[in-house]
Amino acid sequence: METLTTLRELQATLDYLATIQRELSALPPDLASLDTRVKAAEKQIAEKTKALDMAKAQILVKSKELTQAQKDEDRARAAVKTTSQKVHYTAAIRELDEKERLKASVSKPLKALETTVQTLEAALALLETERVAAQAQFDELHAIFLEEHANQVEARKQLTAKRSKLEAKLTSAEVARFHRLAGARQGRAVVMVENGACSGCNVKLRGPILFQLKEGKTLLTCESCQRTLFLP
Ligand SMILES: [Zn+2]
Repeated sequence: METLTTLRELQATLDYLATIQRELSALPPDLASLDTRVKAAEKQIAEKTKALDMAKAQILVKSKELTQAQKDEDRARAAVKTTSQKVHYTAAIRELDEKERLKASVSKPLKALETTVQTLEAALALLETERVAAQAQFDELHAIFLEEHANQVEARKQLTAKRSKLEAKLTSAEVARFHRLAGARQGRAVVMVENGACSGCNVKLRGPILFQLKEGKTLLTCESCQRTLFLP
């Protein structure tokens, strides 16, 4: 039952790692607030970048429309110049008025979009400065925090190496199954049998299962929660 031993060790390693991870992510207030500032800046940067991309895409569309409107206007103006008959002239002037109006109706929102882009770019530059400053402060303090928690950092390193070593002893299917279960069952994929019940879900185990467990020949799982079982 070497697999069971490995699975139990893996579970213990992950439990220990989780504890250390909790300690290392319990940031002191000054660090936590810097972390919040970095994340808030990142969120705003993402939102404003999206808005900027949208505005730029709209500018492309409107620019094309403006080019077309300009062409139409030029054509209308040329028509005015070449028309000599009074009746046609009035019509041509009306046509030119119309084309000028159309061009204005495109160029106005285009200008507004260009202003939007400028505003967004300025805001993004400020946010990026804020983010970089907060991140630098965070990194500096976090390095001190990690120095103060050097034991945990070292333990995490060793446990991570141990986890890899243990996982290498298992098949990829076993590793995948372990992590899938751990992910779905509060981090516990391998549990002890207590008073004839699975200590993961507290469901009583059937006699034959208990018998097989005592025999210790095969890997057994709880029929209710699917966790791997072992006897104390
Ligand atoms: Zn169970």
